[in-house]
Amino acid sequence: MEQRRVLLLGGSSEGRLLATAFDAMPDLRVVNSLAGLTSRPARLRGEVRVGGFGGVEGLVSYLDDANIDLVVDATHPFATQMHHHAAAACDRTGVPRLRVERPAWEPGPGDNWAEVPSIAEAARAVTGSGAGRIFVTTGRTDLAAFAPAVDGRRWWLVRAVEAPEPLVVGPAEVLIERGPFRLEGELTLLDRHRVDLVVTKNSGGSAAAPKLEASRRLGIRVVMVRRPPAPRGVTVTSTGAATAWVTAHLR
Ligand code: NAP
Repeated sequence: MEQRRVLLLGGSSEGRLLATAFDAMPDLRVVNSLAGLTSRPARLRGEVRVGGFGGVEGLVSYLDDANIDLVVDATHPFATQMHHHAAAACDRTGVPRLRVERPAWEPGPGDNWAEVPSIAEAARAVTGSGAGRIFVTTGRTDLAAFAPAVDGRRWWLVRAVEAPEPLVVGPAEVLIERGPFRLEGELTLLDRHRVDLVVTKNSGGSAAAPKLEASRRLGIRVVMVRRPPAPRGVTVTSTGAATAWVTAHLR
């Protein structure tokens, strides 16, 4: 039987897991697509292409030229452009599309979250918080938005997968680390640096969640950036459900 081709829009842990799952399916050929922002991307099973498609028009052409039968959009919940482009291009071409998006984190008893709609609002929340030692994990490309909250008196602890250039905030310490993180380590980190405010995006998932548990235990406030609107269309929250959707489309 001829292999079908699935375009897997990645850049998330779900994308990495699905690459392995799809690569093991004999009827399927997987093309992983990455934006190319990370200089050391994780190794992926299957074919890999890197870089943008050139908007909706470019993606429409790509789907046609590469004979793509299915699209699975496993981009990160905060990747605002790509999932809308994928929706529009699949509508135009009739290629079936699935969105995979892990559930958002929800505050529980003992959590002290201020939920904000954007990074700019997160920066304003920092300014208004009175906190002096800020742990920021929103990612290096979002760091620039915190420039208005820099006043020389606040101290910043920045954690990112790659070094933020330029480092807009200061005085600061930068940790270049990739999850998963563990509760013990997060408790030690927050305590050692006497952090009194944590700023994060609501990425969801288990890899980055221990900082929230650690904040709860230590009574530290959290500024939580809400997710942008989810794309329309069929959405699942797990890689198992995504694999089942693909399997159903291969029949
Ligand atoms: P974005 O705003 O949705 O994408 C910006 C542009 O980058 C898109 O219009 C597209 O270019 C290209 N692009 C994005 N994802 C792509 C993919 N998987 N394959 C090919 N091109 C892609 O996304 P972003 O926030 O810049 O994030 C870029 C990548 O990093 C995403 O793949 C995302 O999964 C990952 N990521 C993002 C975050 C975050 O917080 N934003 C966190 C972790 C990982 P064209 O219009 O030219 O096609």
